[in-house]
Amino acid sequence: MPPGAVIGIVGGGQLGRMAAMAAARLGYLVHVYDPVARGPAAQVSAFDTVAGFDDVRALRRFAASVDVVTFEFENVPAAGLEALEGARPVRPGAAVLRISQDRVLEKTFLNGIGVATAPWVAVDNAPWLAAAVERLGVPCVLKTTRLGYDGKGQAVIRAAGEAAGAFERLAPKPLVLEGFVDFACEISVVVARGADGTVVAFDPVENRHKDHILDMTLAPAQLPAEVLAEATRVARLVAEKLELVGVLAVEMFVTADGGILVNEIAPRPHNSGHWTIDACPVSQFEMFIRAVAGLPLPPAVRHHDAVMKNLVGPEGMADWDAILGTPGLIAHHYGKDLARPGRKMGHFTKLFPKGGLPGALGVEDGLRLVRD
Ligand code: AMP
Repeated sequence: MPPGAVIGIVGGGQLGRMAAMAAARLGYLVHVYDPVARGPAAQVSAFDTVAGFDDVRALRRFAASVDVVTFEFENVPAAGLEALEGARPVRPGAAVLRISQDRVLEKTFLNGIGVATAPWVAVDNAPWLAAAVERLGVPCVLKTTRLGYDGKGQAVIRAAGEAAGAFERLAPKPLVLEGFVDFACEISVVVARGADGTVVAFDPVENRHKDHILDMTLAPAQLPAEVLAEATRVARLVAEKLELVGVLAVEMFVTADGGILVNEIAPRPHNSGHWTIDACPVSQFEMFIRAVAGLPLPPAVRHHDAVMKNLVGPEGMADWDAILGTPGLIAHHYGKDLARPGRKMGHFTKLFPKGGLPGALGVEDGLRLVRD
């Protein structure tokens, strides 16, 4: 796609915003499609359509006005994107979206290509649950198959007696039961695959959560080289087998013995890849735009180590002025006006020389803010 072409992005949150900024740098215009007006992405885009994700007529009109369609939000109905596939290229395709939207399809796909996950059982009704809990043992984790994010739509079952209550509470059904993974740490790998089949992978990173929401990403993950290599191999394999054109994040658990189990995949730029904006010559957002626009993908190299810290809700934003006043912190604001609890409002990155990421305690120290 030549500069001046229009990239249509379905979904208008911070991922769309940072993608639109990367698109602008390459000379593209962005048209955002979102039900809410003047959101994070629309604020920095040339065009926007305000309409529902299930409004097929509005989606068709939107597709007709752009050169390629992509998405930054996984819970877009795949049927809506499918309806556009004849009109314009949709990258990644609706088939990829369909797999990543449904935990049972996702795990079936992953296991089918030889990628390990936690043991799991699909649970369509309450009587099945009792048998599933017996099979996997406690503790185990019951999750909605669809529409879960940031720990929403899941419950840990610590005793068989808790299962029926958890089944009642969780919606929408159907559900999936997973064995509880006693992980040593959580990591993710962001990979990009171009229209020509080139696959590039950013270094695996460690993700630390607070209240089920990503709090901090450490790049690179401080793990043995063989574990990092295996994580990268798995992420590349997933992108290849999906025939992805775009960017994909693969979230994984690392077990005490260094084994890797995939938790979930997201076929779009990912919060755990935000550090790449500041620590890499080509960020996950530029890789995403390049893939969608059919441009070549350069290597996903890192010129610094980095820590990314999310600013979540009113507590996160209470630090904004101190972050701006602290040398060495690179601040990113998503342009959202209301800091509701749990809402991702922005993030900041701190860079370290390559190989110079401080140890566990040093990380907190390195992020210390300058206050009056
Ligand atoms: P998810 O919505 O699947 O990304 O899960 C959110 C978080 O819950 C993960 O990042 C883990 O910290 C935790 N979690 C999810 N599934 C499991 C599991 N099977 N065993 C242990 N912890 C889990």
